[in-house]
Amino acid sequence: MIVREIFAKSVLSKSQIYDYAINPYVGCSHSCRYCYAAFMRRFTGHKEKWGEFVDIKINVPELLAREIKRKRMGRVWVSGVCDPYQAAEKRYKLTGRCLEILLENQWPVTIQTKSSLVLRDIKILEKSKNIEVGFSITTADERMRKIFEPGAPPIKERINALKVLHSKGIKTFAMIAPILPGAEGLVEELADKVDHILIDRLNYFYATRIYMENKMEWAKEEPFFIQESNELRRKFEERGIAVRVLF
Ligand code: SF4
Repeated sequence: MIVREIFAKSVLSKSQIYDYAINPYVGCSHSCRYCYAAFMRRFTGHKEKWGEFVDIKINVPELLAREIKRKRMGRVWVSGVCDPYQAAEKRYKLTGRCLEILLENQWPVTIQTKSSLVLRDIKILEKSKNIEVGFSITTADERMRKIFEPGAPPIKERINALKVLHSKGIKTFAMIAPILPGAEGLVEELADKVDHILIDRLNYFYATRIYMENKMEWAKEEPFFIQESNELRRKFEERGIAVRVLF
């Protein structure tokens, strides 16, 4: 892993999904094979493979403390094009420090991660009424996880983190995106640990090769996503969990 410390020029960026996004890191050590954010390589001039570099924007808390005074309040997505609790966060604590600033100023926040490191900040999260924490979980099958998300924490660890957060009264959701083979096993595991579920299909562009390599061409076809999402929606709704399908 190539790690570099850099200085960012700004931190609160406009987002198409929420009002703003904060990305304390460029790159992501979770190295998901389907990652939609891999375009950041070209965008930031990186020659290394996605998942093999991370730039640490060491000045983001200071920038945020300044920018938050100038900008109109809005919901902030943490993060968007990296995992805010990837391995580097353990040492640098940039996400944790940004959260403190956002919540001191009572800004609404949506965290999205695959890492139980978010539990480190549970005391900060408990103080806010307007925060939600989502875990991306794409399958209940750990073999699939290892193929598609080689650098990300095991599924059980994520489910357990959701359980802890939910039990503390923090709003939680799971993002089953992209649906991978084995996703149906998540229904029982997640039903009592989340407030709602989001489901999305695969970004073909980045995942086609890995499907071919693993002889799973069937799982990148349209009917797979439609059938799986319908089935997941039905089963979660039967258990009283709201579901939004994003495709
Ligand atoms: S955790 Fe998210 S940002 Fe990181 S590699 Fe996986 S999909 Fe991409």
